[in-house]
Formats: sequence, structure tokens, C-alpha cells
Amino acid sequence: MSQHFLLSAAARSISLRKVLRMEEAEAWEVFCRIRWASTEGKPVCPHCGSLTSYDVPRNGRPRYRCKDCRKDYSPTSGTLFAYHKLSIREYLAAIVLFVNAAKGISALQLGRDLDVQYKTAFVLCHKLREAMASEMKGMVVGGEGEEVEVDGCYVGGYVKPANHKKNRRDRRLAENQSGKRRVVVAIRERDGRTVTNVFQNEADATDFIKARVAKGTTVHADEAKSWDDLNGRFAMHRVNHREAYSWDEACTNMAESFFSRLRRAELGQHHHISGLYLTRYAGEMAWREDYRRQSNGELFKIVAYRAASLRQSVDFTGYWQRGASR
Ligand SMILES: [Zn+2]
Repeated sequence: MSQHFLLSAAARSISLRKVLRMEEAEAWEVFCRIRWASTEGKPVCPHCGSLTSYDVPRNGRPRYRCKDCRKDYSPTSGTLFAYHKLSIREYLAAIVLFVNAAKGISALQLGRDLDVQYKTAFVLCHKLREAMASEMKGMVVGGEGEEVEVDGCYVGGYVKPANHKKNRRDRRLAENQSGKRRVVVAIRERDGRTVTNVFQNEADATDFIKARVAKGTTVHADEAKSWDDLNGRFAMHRVNHREAYSWDEACTNMAESFFSRLRRAELGQHHHISGLYLTRYAGEMAWREDYRRQSNGELFKIVAYRAASLRQSVDFTGYWQRGASR
């Protein structure tokens, strides 16, 4: 039997040990090389793009003054890590822990691993999710001769059954549900990328699917009526899951394996995913699914690069401070 990829040495090209052994200066160098990859780590002014600067370190952290526009900046200025409180080595360690967790990592666990408050870990996890999601923004999959699978997975809205049997109600009926249940719709290109979004019902996803799947694509879906509207636009293969998982060349098994990862993250790591953040968790798990055969060093570089090239987070910079002043 061939060895599972994650068991091979090739899957491990970075480790927590390696990061924690770095001196702070070395960690900064790693970050700069990732952020300013095109200049091999040489600082580029985020205000005017100038390549010439003076070193003006502050509190042992690198800082630069632009020779052209005279403004000061640090390697994290204008990135997801702007206004950071932890050392850069701790951020790199957080990225390693985050990418190593194939089924996601809870903020509580990351907080314990790094010895930081839950709130700090929560915001950090969401910023890293933002970095992953930035890659899938507006992504269109499929194309002439390509095949994609479309499916939905219902998440959340748990209603606790009553203790006594006589008080119990049928939780499958709409009137007995909490109204918080949402469906994650996944479009998964065979041998390609996974695009996700969250809706109230599968039927609401039609426009999203039409916008994200290129013309000429063959779409695989199950027998649910919700996908009937796609018939006019794409060549469809439908499979009736009551009869078989795969039928007459039609199957949605790849979409299902993505949902399996999402479910395991929900049940095993996060225990509860709030509807508010479901889109973000779904995006994170899609990213992990698509990159499952890359070494962790590669994943580390991609997430760190994304975090370093994204502008500071609108949703998560000062998240708890805003909450407290409300
Ligand atoms: Zn400048």
C-alpha cells in the first residue's frame, strides 16, 4: 500500500521547533523575505514604493524611514499583522500551528499552545482565515471540458430535544427549528479548487453557482430540486443518493469529502460554529482541502505571504476593543 502523503517526510518541511529556535532577528528576516519577496527581503516603502530607506530600529524591532517620502514604517506596516503585540517569532509559530492542523484549530487550543489570551488567539485565527480566503475571492472554476461537483451541507441551528418523551417535537419540521440552520454550498472542480458560500437554502445558491462556474462546464449534482435551475445553463449529471453514491458517471463524492472535513472541524475542534462566521470557516476548510497534498512549509509560506500582502483587517483589527466600547 502506498504511504499516505501526511506520513511522508516530504510533508514536513517546517516545524514548530525550527521556528522557536530562531532568534527574533532571524524571524524578522524570514518575515521580510516573505513580505518583500520580489526584492529578496529588502524593504519597500508601503507609502510611496521607494526602495531606499534608513534603519531606525525601535525597541529592538526593525523600523525604516523612507529616504523619499520621509515616512516611517515597519515590516508589518499595512499588513494583517499591523499593530501587533506578540513577537514576530510567535506569529510565525502561530502560522505553523495553524497550517499543521488538517481539520482546523480552535482559538482555545492555539491560545494554550502560545500562552496568549483566548481573545488574542481568536482574532489571530480569524486573520489567518482571512489570509486564506483572500486567495479564493471572486475565483471562477471549471471551463470547457471541465467538471465540477455542486452540493450543500447543513450546519448549525441545533435544537435540544426535550427531556420527557411526551414533550418532544419533530425537529425535522420547519416550525420546530431555530431558524439558525444554514447551508454551506460547495462548488468543487475535479482536480481543481473549491469555492464555498453560505445560504439559507440550497435553492438560493443558483446565482452564486452561475457566477462562479465558467460556461461549458459539466456540473455534477444530486437529485435535490434546488439544482434544477442549473439545467438550462450547464450540462448536468445527476445522481440519486437514495439509489447510489455514484450513478451513470455522476457523483458528488469530492464535494462530500470536503464536507467531511468541514464536519470534523465543526464537531471535533470548534464544537459550535456561529452562523456569523460560517462563511469564514467554510473558506478555511476549502483552502485546507485544496492544499492537502502540499508540504507544511509550502502552506506556511502561502499563508504568511497572504497575511503579509493583505491590508490590515477591517473586521478584526481592534475587534475586542470595539466590542468593549459598544
Ligand atoms: Zn516612502
